[in-house]
Amino acid sequence: MGKLFILLPSILLFLTGIPVTGHAQKIVETDTVYTYEMMQEDLRFLDQEYGDLIEVFETGKTPYGRHLYLVKLGYGDAHVFYNASHHAREWLTTILLMNMLEEYAKAYQTGSDIQGYNLKELLHQTTIWMMPMVNPDGVTLQQKGLSAFPKSVHQQLIQFNEGSRDFKRWKANAEGIDLNRQYPAGWEEIEATRPSWKNYKGTRPFQAKEVQTVRDLTYILDPQITLAYHTAGQIIYWNYNIEPKFIERDTRIAETYSRMSGYRLVETRTGSGYTDWFNVQFKRPGLTPELGVYPGERNVDPTYFPEAWKRNQLAALYMAEEGFQLSEKISNPRKEGNDVIYADGRFERDILPSDAMSLYQQILYIKRNYSLHIEQAVKLYSWYKGCEGKCSMNDPVLSAIFPPLKKFQQWETKRTVNAFHTWKIKMNIPIDSNSVHGENIYILDSQLNRVDIQIVPLIDEIAIKPPKGGYKPGTYTLYIKEVRSRKNAVMKTPVEMQFRVE
Ligand SMILES: [Zn+2]
Repeated sequence: MGKLFILLPSILLFLTGIPVTGHAQKIVETDTVYTYEMMQEDLRFLDQEYGDLIEVFETGKTPYGRHLYLVKLGYGDAHVFYNASHHAREWLTTILLMNMLEEYAKAYQTGSDIQGYNLKELLHQTTIWMMPMVNPDGVTLQQKGLSAFPKSVHQQLIQFNEGSRDFKRWKANAEGIDLNRQYPAGWEEIEATRPSWKNYKGTRPFQAKEVQTVRDLTYILDPQITLAYHTAGQIIYWNYNIEPKFIERDTRIAETYSRMSGYRLVETRTGSGYTDWFNVQFKRPGLTPELGVYPGERNVDPTYFPEAWKRNQLAALYMAEEGFQLSEKISNPRKEGNDVIYADGRFERDILPSDAMSLYQQILYIKRNYSLHIEQAVKLYSWYKGCEGKCSMNDPVLSAIFPPLKKFQQWETKRTVNAFHTWKIKMNIPIDSNSVHGENIYILDSQLNRVDIQIVPLIDEIAIKPPKGGYKPGTYTLYIKEVRSRKNAVMKTPVEMQFRVE
């Protein structure tokens, strides 16, 4: 009888498809021509399957409207960033990242080790960010040819391809720009050519939309380590002008990756590639592993994948672990918190896309001023990219990005207010005068500058005296929040009130 009770639940579990350990079904196919559409579908499945361990973000679009995806794996405060398929014909690298995503997530969920690396531990220390396909237009052109593009551009694409309709050799994006010759690290020295299937550096660094997204994300993620996967030659490009004081650290890390993967180290001479820029701009380790044996001017065949996996599976985990070690050495980690954020006029000015700053600069500013977590900053970036030109403060997505966001209740606007008017705000119960200060009660002018007012707490009233010399003519907004009662009850609803001084 006892046996029956033990067996029955496990049979039920099996029949209802809830696996007892591990996932029987593999999501990512590794032995095939792996397309943008397959990646999209796999990302959807993986996102569903692994809850908040994996999060998928749309972080912009290509010139032909394909999404640029960023994926988060893990929960750690240390961050590393791996990207793939800068070069169209090198989509084997996308398979590598997608397979990593699935295998690492699976090991996390089942609590298993991958040859000594405990994924549960590792992914609580380090978050691995992946951009599995930097160049989806190019990859699609390389795999499917002209049929995947509007007729109106066929002649131009053929011209970029030197008259050929066979796109197997294609490396660039669909505008004929080589995305890995777009970074300002030795860019000037690269020979200027014309749009082409390979090697065209563009008219300026960061010209291509795809590369702008990679740049922005690198600033936002601020990773300790980056890996940019390519496929030609079973080598690792590294060391583009690394500063002498970092050479020992970076040599040790590059040599370890080399030992684990069996790829030979080659010092970068050309420049203008992603990790060259990362080395120079961030002064941190960035490596460019070239996965396959050079197959000539075409893609590496997916039958090579098991070999690439064997060589890189652990090395990428080592890099995540190393990212954690490096982040631990930073003596003053940036404070990240979740303080309540009040949506006053300054918040609105800060959040809506600004012409004065580029998006990533704006996000870095917001991140600092509003103590955003990196994941929130990525959500904000994704929001900007999605609402392009039409971003509104009323978008409910904003409350998801800023979970503790509070809006002010609007009182009716007061017109024709005297320049020397003293506002008196009456409360229903006696107030704690310690909560009556400029952080909680303030007036902003129409330029969103603080007005130098005097705030006087009375028993159950607050007097707000005008600035010396009175208000200048104009529109002002008074904000009141977080005033406490003597029994420590906090004001329920923050309020704002506009007034006009003639
Ligand atoms: Zn490449």
